[in-house]
Amino acid sequence: MKLFKGGVHPPQQKNTAEKATVPMGVPSVVLIPLAQHLGAPCQPKVKKGDTVKVGQVIGDTDAYVSAPIHSSVSGTVTRVEPVVLSGSRPVMCVEIKPDGLQEISEEVKPPVVDSRESFLAAIRASGLTGLGGAAFPTHVKLNPPKGTKVDTLIINAAECEPYITSDYRECLENTQGIIEGILHVLKWTGIEKALIGIEQNKPEAIKMLKQAVSNIPSITVHALPTRYPQGAEKTLIYTLTGREVPSGKLPADVGCIVMNVASVAFVASYLKTGMPLVKKRVTVDGSAVRNPQNVEVPIGTLLKEVFDFCGGFKSEPGKVIMGGPMMGVSQYSLDLPVLKHTNALLALDADEGRIPEETACIRCGRCVRACPMRLLPLELDRLVKTQQFEEAQRFHLMDCIECGCCVYACPAKRLMVQSIRIGKDYIRRNAKK
Ligand code: SF4
Ligand code: SF4
Repeated sequence: MKLFKGGVHPPQQKNTAEKATVPMGVPSVVLIPLAQHLGAPCQPKVKKGDTVKVGQVIGDTDAYVSAPIHSSVSGTVTRVEPVVLSGSRPVMCVEIKPDGLQEISEEVKPPVVDSRESFLAAIRASGLTGLGGAAFPTHVKLNPPKGTKVDTLIINAAECEPYITSDYRECLENTQGIIEGILHVLKWTGIEKALIGIEQNKPEAIKMLKQAVSNIPSITVHALPTRYPQGAEKTLIYTLTGREVPSGKLPADVGCIVMNVASVAFVASYLKTGMPLVKKRVTVDGSAVRNPQNVEVPIGTLLKEVFDFCGGFKSEPGKVIMGGPMMGVSQYSLDLPVLKHTNALLALDADEGRIPEETACIRCGRCVRACPMRLLPLELDRLVKTQQFEEAQRFHLMDCIECGCCVYACPAKRLMVQSIRIGKDYIRRNAKK
């Protein structure tokens, strides 16, 4: 096993690790965005006034890099219009008023899979996109360009971000589903072996996974050093295989495909039941939350209803984050929805959520030592702030994985990731033009 350079050790705060997942029930309304993935947004397949059922396609597109969107409830469509989600531009959304019956759509039936092509078609139809946060359509990931030789499937169960325990609960509550999902992926893609990577701070999950694969030589479980961002795709590949993904290349270019543990478990569930991706296990935690726990939430449920389900707030939140404290995105409203790739909702009290004041860089180099991508975060920050975007690209701005290690390590509290995100966004938009 290799050790990646850089990284940090934030307090783990896995407060909900021992709390079994609780299903939330039917919310009063769902707001389902038609772009919850990387790639082309979907077009609405329903209009205001239509009745829909659970699992029914409500958005799709012919674009290859995309995934259909399904209704998580049965009820009536009340609105189809753009809504500004946090950190993005307006996204077309379908609002549905549930009827409480949760009638299942006739479209929901187990797919017939008898070849690689039908397997990939089934994965697309399931609406699966990377559940670890990347939201990349899984059927695209599992179908690398011709001539690419992939020999290793890596299952990401590292869950290195503080607070988040949803993957850990998947490992404990659905161990067999994970293994079944891996076996399906190996069988239909022809990949030889799977390595499950999980941080050492989850001994119970490691024990259960090891027991489950004890008679399956093609799957092995690896306990990894606990260090953030161990679960980032490139660091995980390096730790488990010693292979380095070059700048601008994909894991498949070094013979690997990485899947999140919840994604692979969903594959098994979909092939068995045909129920597409309509609900998500979410860790709800943070100093402002009354009853932190893991909740199974219908996709599109508004954040305020999820927090209410967890007993509401014990103090006014200073910051609400979708995702973990290192890579998550602050939310501007509680009327925004849970998405396919939402793995955590954190509400921090006013003190914890306070954004510290930036002071001048003292050129101590701690951000450089902490960066797992071996970048110069202080320089990237300076180049973007002075609008030297081409120069920033020359300093590998696009290789930043936005892990936040630089900010965490910085004594001057420089908000480097914000600058880097702005720089990347500018470069991508210019490239499109
Ligand atoms: S860690 Fe902060 S203060 Fe130190 S060099 Fe980096 S940006 Fe400057
Ligand atoms: S520059 Fe990017 S990759 Fe490096 S530590 Fe900062 S956020 Fe992480």
